[in-house]
Amino acid sequence: MVSLWFERAWIDDRWERKVRLRIADGRIASVETGVAAGAGDERHRVCLPGLCNVHSHGFQRGMAGLSERRSRPDDNFWSWREIMYRFLDRLTPEDVASITAQAYAEMLETGFTRVGEFHYLHHDPAGAVYADPAEMAGAIAAASDTTGIGLTLLPVFYAHGNFGAAPPSPGQRRFLNDIDGFAALLDASRPKLPGDANIGVAPHSLRAVTPDELAALLQLSPAGPVHIHAAEQVKEVADCVAWSGARPVEWLLDNAGVDERWCLIHSTHLDDREVPRLAASGAVAGLCPVTEANLGDGIFPAVEYFAANGRFGVGTDSNILVDAAQELRALEYSQRLAHRARALLASEAAPFAGAHLFARALHGGAQALGVRTGLAVGNPADIVSLDLDHPAFAGTDDATLLDRWIFAARAGAIDCVWRAGIKRVAAGRHVDGDAIAQAYRACVARILA
Ligand SMILES: [Zn+2]
Repeated sequence: MVSLWFERAWIDDRWERKVRLRIADGRIASVETGVAAGAGDERHRVCLPGLCNVHSHGFQRGMAGLSERRSRPDDNFWSWREIMYRFLDRLTPEDVASITAQAYAEMLETGFTRVGEFHYLHHDPAGAVYADPAEMAGAIAAASDTTGIGLTLLPVFYAHGNFGAAPPSPGQRRFLNDIDGFAALLDASRPKLPGDANIGVAPHSLRAVTPDELAALLQLSPAGPVHIHAAEQVKEVADCVAWSGARPVEWLLDNAGVDERWCLIHSTHLDDREVPRLAASGAVAGLCPVTEANLGDGIFPAVEYFAANGRFGVGTDSNILVDAAQELRALEYSQRLAHRARALLASEAAPFAGAHLFARALHGGAQALGVRTGLAVGNPADIVSLDLDHPAFAGTDDATLLDRWIFAARAGAIDCVWRAGIKRVAAGRHVDGDAIAQAYRACVARILA
């Protein structure tokens, strides 16, 4: 039994004082508020529940910063994708485990305690199925095990190169399955899940999946999360309209039975009718503001979506920069730049933008990954402590504490992170961070040599 005591803890979307959490078997066994610290308590200052990162491609961390050079006047998402395909051409399962572990260690260090891995790199470099079809899923499970981060594995079904079952490109050969092959992959993946990992299903996008295949996937996975990329790109929206007469999110809402199980990743390009419909569906919009800015995707209509009470989570997607607070900050800043106004994602009832964003991302992220979060009895003991001596918190009060973390703190604001009750980050650094980084450096240097 571990016993932690905090001056302040974020419980049910507000601060409680003098809080003791007891932890047993990785879960919160008791929550007491207004109690003095005892001799057996490990004392800390500020306690937050860990956030869920709803969307990651772990291996892409290894190419972060390699695609910022202008190579032609119309560099965009599609030219970035060509660079990404060339990078992943050579990756072995060992490489994927090393790179993904580095990404996951960084996630924990910045306050994410669980990751939804949108996993599409299944096959060997020639595109052949490994002897164990879930070899690569095993590499991701190993990265979760090495770092301790909670895992929601989202095996991706990918069969086509564009709408209307267009043939895939050679660069997509490592992603491809038919429904039978994918069913075998799902079966082989389940025994590899570490700890309290869970599994969902991820039709890659309406570009990569036909309506019949989408229906078959939902039958293969009748419960648990369903994630899909949707409306990230203007060209994708135009291609979808040409194919079906409907926009991607509109098509999904009309035809796919979108509900609370679903997480529509990006949903960047929504029209005025799609915004309230997506909000009313109960699904989560999986927003990845840092990657969306990096790739030049566009700006999600968050002001309108929040007004419709839509649910969202945040994801680090390409892992160009891994930082939970930065995702929330980038989301708010994108709206300020677009609307030339401030504190747009706060509300009358919740007037502090950072606190409001954190609370909503906490709930939406957990829903998207099919798990429970928050500091409550029975929940996983996924806990983040802040270093109140960090200059960003000087003279802090309850009202502005989360705003200061999200908008005003550079690295160093997070002190410790416990995941399933085990302290994985201490003094801001993953306890195995040196070994994980050493393996990562050796791996990437070899790949880029
Ligand atoms: Zn993605």
